Amino acid sequence: MENSTCIFCKIVKKEIPAKIVFEDNKVLAFEDVSPQAPVHILIIPKAHIEKLSDIKEESAAIIGRLTVTANMLANEKKVDRSGYRVVVNCGYDAGQAVSHLHMHLLGGRPMGWPPG
Ligand code: 5GP
Ligand code: ZN
Repeated sequence: MENSTCIFCKIVKKEIPAKIVFEDNKVLAFEDVSPQAPVHILIIPKAHIEKLSDIKEESAAIIGRLTVTANMLANEKKVDRSGYRVVVNCGYDAGQAVSHLHMHLLGGRPMGWPPG
């Protein structure tokens, strides 16, 4: 359920500080420490799930919860009309640096495609 060495589990347990913008029983959202856009929020399951490829039928509902939270925060941060990007990096080639599933919510500026 949790991983004692995981930095995001530590944020969930409030052992290290973060600018928390939303919390419920399953989900935590906080400002990225190194923002890549005017709005850059990380939305995570409170339970330790390492990466997107670990999601199975039984755990798939959490992806819906993360998405609903991203939409709600996009609305709150007023990027819902201008548009926003939701990113989940999975594994080495995608550049996943923290091994606790997280959804990036990015907005507030136009973004290029393809991603780097
Ligand atoms: P990834 O590359 O794994 O998809 O994204 C990890 C993200 O977590 C990066 O955008 C990085 O800036 C952010 N991050 C890493 N450590 C911390 C931390 O201790 N606190 C916060 N708020 N964000 C972090
Ligand atoms: Zn964790």
